[in-house]
Amino acid sequence: MYGWAGKILRVDLSTGRINEIPTSKYVPRFVGGWGIAAKIAWDELPPEIGAFDPENRIMVMTGPLTGTIIPGTGRAEICTISPITYSFQGPTEDYVRSGIGGQWAPELKFAGYDGVVIHGKADKPVWIYIDDRTVEIRDAGSLWGLDTYSTQEAIWDEVGSKKVKVLCIGPAGERLVRFATIATDNGNHAGVGGAGAVMGSKNLKAIAVRGTGKVEVAKPEELYELAYTMHRLRYRPEARPPYGLYGANQHRLGHGGEVKNKELIEHWKRDTIKGVACWGCPIACRVVFSVPDAIRPGISNLCSGISRFRNATRTFYGRYTKNYLKVVGLLDGNGVNCHDIEAIISWLHGCYEAGLLSEQQTGISLKDYGSYEFFERLISSVVTREGFGDLLADGVHRACDRLRGTGKEIINHVNRGFQEVYHPRLLPTSALIAAFESSQRLTLYHTWATRILTKHCEETAGRGWLTNDEWVGRVTEVFGSDKVIDHSDKGFYQPDKAYLAKWTEDYKTAGAGCFILCGWVMGHFWSWYSDAPNLGDPSPENESRAFSLVTGIDMDVAGMLNVGERVRNVERAIMVREGRRREQDTLADYCFTTPQGKDSSFELASSVVPGRVPGPDGHWIEVSRALDRKKWEELKDAYYKERGWDLATGIPTRSKLKELDLKDIADDLEKLEKRI
Ligand code: SF4
Repeated sequence: MYGWAGKILRVDLSTGRINEIPTSKYVPRFVGGWGIAAKIAWDELPPEIGAFDPENRIMVMTGPLTGTIIPGTGRAEICTISPITYSFQGPTEDYVRSGIGGQWAPELKFAGYDGVVIHGKADKPVWIYIDDRTVEIRDAGSLWGLDTYSTQEAIWDEVGSKKVKVLCIGPAGERLVRFATIATDNGNHAGVGGAGAVMGSKNLKAIAVRGTGKVEVAKPEELYELAYTMHRLRYRPEARPPYGLYGANQHRLGHGGEVKNKELIEHWKRDTIKGVACWGCPIACRVVFSVPDAIRPGISNLCSGISRFRNATRTFYGRYTKNYLKVVGLLDGNGVNCHDIEAIISWLHGCYEAGLLSEQQTGISLKDYGSYEFFERLISSVVTREGFGDLLADGVHRACDRLRGTGKEIINHVNRGFQEVYHPRLLPTSALIAAFESSQRLTLYHTWATRILTKHCEETAGRGWLTNDEWVGRVTEVFGSDKVIDHSDKGFYQPDKAYLAKWTEDYKTAGAGCFILCGWVMGHFWSWYSDAPNLGDPSPENESRAFSLVTGIDMDVAGMLNVGERVRNVERAIMVREGRRREQDTLADYCFTTPQGKDSSFELASSVVPGRVPGPDGHWIEVSRALDRKKWEELKDAYYKERGWDLATGIPTRSKLKELDLKDIADDLEKLEKRI
């Protein structure tokens, strides 16, 4: 097989048994990443298995493109039963997936594995060492309690080489904080779904790997040409916008209007050491800042973490200081997901304002919100599970349940546990994508389709990327209609939005989820931030072409969408088995009651998404809208029809599953549901 390493490593921590299974058991039908993990989850993770049960699996999967010269192929996907999911009926423990960048995934391929599947529970702290095809379970007694930075350094010391790549958890994962992350390098984390706590529940501190092999590809010369083209489309020095807004620079500065913020520019010029990239990525979206008094002197993170509390600290101190970077260091070192800390702060704020909780009860005062000391106290109470921190360590939904429903209404303003970025009230495609996921998937919106939807860069960077006419023309060419981007009141609920939601999900599932290309890099076909007109290569074909050249298996865009649809249907079958039905395919209540822009619970809610429609003079105007429940249900009907799922229940039909070569899943589902 070209592209795949050919083996999946399996480790049972209860018995210490280590074995390999052939990847060919799952490919080409499930390709890699999300696809293989979903099939394993379907076969091995029935809904009675909880997140912290030893039988839960931690699956760290690569894809056939991982470790090749195609840009953006350095990521892994981590899939498991999550301890932090919930439905609008209450907390759940559902199947999730979370991506992580860095160098670990290619190293695993070079060691000879396409993925690692771990189950069971060790009777004491351990770590797994993969040295090519030699695999050991080692004692982690001396590592337990270390932060994520020190854990990696201790393992490098033990094995005598920094070439070993390490995935690990911090103290939050050890103490089963339900939103604990898994970390690698400096600033790369799998943050969605609390996989770090699942590792902690297995007494597994780290998985380290060293590989000396390589990925064999079918057509190396043509792949080189394609990789060159793709790199060039994403990295053109002559196409840089003002202030060098590209890659890492973009994340130092934030997006949009912030590029004109002179104080912020001065800050990054003064304090940035360098940009850093995952394996073979031309974008280098992580940034290392000099912060000598932080947990580590060089703090690195992605836009999501770095920009999270920057404004809050700016407000508190009256100027940009490095305190927000010290907060990033605390979160990263302990292995805590910043989005959940943000949700906790929003929830506490709402509860205090409504008189439902007091600062005396919680011991957490918001009056010094924005100070480093505030974050230090809050993070410490969560990670140590001391006092009220013990409730918060279970996430806001479970904290609310443990308080017999206190603050439940406030939680309704925390959409699926995270702040919203591409707001469902503004973008119907985002609304559908958000409603059909089990938790926020920010990167699902970073696909090409949504870039088209939001026309992100022209609006936010203040510089021509595509003209309006070019934009509409490109959309019409690829999707057959410009109705998919009609955000006017009249066109908002047109069924074409369901088509684009499905297209976006399937394309992303195949490209980012299964091939494993970085979602931030996907959509190489035009270059951001360049002089208009710059259409790059205006087709979605490079991703499927890369797959063909690496694996030797012919695939076009239609084939790629078919792969994505198959995997989405396996994931939907898992959700159905977990109890998901049409009623749960929805959004937080406030999306239907409170127009965008009037929700003060969110710092970002009205600032990130353009949320604009063409005004009478051709300029763009802001819209303020809440979703209409009846029309929303009609839009869902259109989505179920696009997907071939039962309208009343949202369950995939037997005929759809058979069409997707999933008869085995249809048979299993039929036995379970006795209704398809
Ligand atoms: S864009 Fe960022 S996260 Fe994605 S591969 Fe490049 S460096 Fe990694």
